[in-house]
Amino acid sequence: MGEEGDKMNELTIQDIVNALNKQQPKKVVVKTTYYDELIAYDVYRTVETKSYRCPSCEAPVYHKPKYCKECGQRLEFGGR
Ligand SMILES: [Zn+2]
Repeated sequence: MGEEGDKMNELTIQDIVNALNKQQPKKVVVKTTYYDELIAYDVYRTVETKSYRCPSCEAPVYHKPKYCKECGQRLEFGGR
């Protein structure tokens, strides 16, 4: 039982600052990638896909969550 308590005591100012910073929404990193999709014999079209990454830990994020599930960073998505 003592372990949890010890960890709490090791919280540093930096940990607290980091936690507060994560409450500030940060714009997600948008990565646009293109690939060629075969739509008919020998016919391709270029498909654009967008993926999002957490600005703090670079974990991929899906379905526009409010917070990163990896590090708890509050996320902001451009546009509506
Ligand atoms: Zn994150």
